[in-house]
Amino acid sequence: MVDSFGRIITYVRISVTDRCDLRCRYCMAERMQFLPRREILTLEEIAALADIFIARGVRKIRLTGGEPLVRRGVLELASAIGSRIGAGLDELTVTTNGTRLEHFAAGLYAAGVRRINVSLDSLRADRFAHVTRGGDLAGVLHGIDVAAQAGLAVKINTVALAGINDDEIAAILRWCGQKSFDLTLIETMPLGEVEEDRTDRYLPLDGVRRALEEEFALTPSLRRTGGPARYYEVAELGVRLGMITPLTNNFCDGCNRIRVAATGTVYGCLGHDQKVDLRDALREGGPAQVDALLDQLLAGKPRRHDFRIGPATVPAVARHMSVTGG
Ligand code: SAM
Ligand code: SF4
Repeated sequence: MVDSFGRIITYVRISVTDRCDLRCRYCMAERMQFLPRREILTLEEIAALADIFIARGVRKIRLTGGEPLVRRGVLELASAIGSRIGAGLDELTVTTNGTRLEHFAAGLYAAGVRRINVSLDSLRADRFAHVTRGGDLAGVLHGIDVAAQAGLAVKINTVALAGINDDEIAAILRWCGQKSFDLTLIETMPLGEVEEDRTDRYLPLDGVRRALEEEFALTPSLRRTGGPARYYEVAELGVRLGMITPLTNNFCDGCNRIRVAATGTVYGCLGHDQKVDLRDALREGGPAQVDALLDQLLAGKPRRHDFRIGPATVPAVARHMSVTGG
């Protein structure tokens, strides 16, 4: 799959549900209206879609959400997609909030998953409960340990939030060093309406990096994964620090990905509404129709996102990250 700018799409992120057992303040509104079940792709439809992507050259699939591990049957889906590893697919990964890892880690490993991203914005129980509106830090930390013991490589994702965790980022990095987890910091993006004012919470990562450099030697790494992160080696901790800076840097030239919402709508870009809807094509049209719609998506895939944060920031798109799949 090649878009009109010559970018080759080898990576697909699939949201398997828009539901979640947490309500992170920058991600969701407190009361979210979730989609009726019939609008969501069945597990069989998602597996069939994954096969179409793999046939078209996709090498890496990430299951995300919402919280992917709250979707009933997610391990069966992971096994179905995981069975394609080595037969077109290189890797199946998962992004999770960690609340259910204790019960799912071994099953994910058995399905062929070897790496997971776990979102964790604070190591302080009260702050974690505040950011997630009620999450239990101890359970998440336990789940992370179970995952590591099950053989899953864990990467931690932390959204940098002014006034919430800005004084804690060095501590989170040190904790990752102790656990041998890589850490990726993310700037908050204006996606969907939430109660919080994102302008107040926006924390540019270049300042975070300068502060960390007073404590750690950060060596810029040449490693690029086709993704948006820039990496630094933190030699004294033996881990890698990634920074995703959608607002201070635009990283779209090397974009290799598209995103499937739980409804089967596929988006060419996180920050635009350009999309095609594959659900009816999957249900009634068949693979040829799906292929034609994907061609249409690729032809119109936007060149770059255009996130801005400032006075009176409005969301770049109305949909929340939990719809598109972060
Ligand atoms: N529930 C899973 C989790 O939290 O990892 C997977 C889905 S979540 C939408 C994926 C990632 O998106 C998380 O790391 C989360 O912190 C991030 N995220 C959500 N909304 C965001 C926003 N507005 N700006 C930046 N990152 C966001
Ligand atoms: Fe749920 Fe993940 Fe969004 Fe938090 S970031 S509300 S865990 S989907």
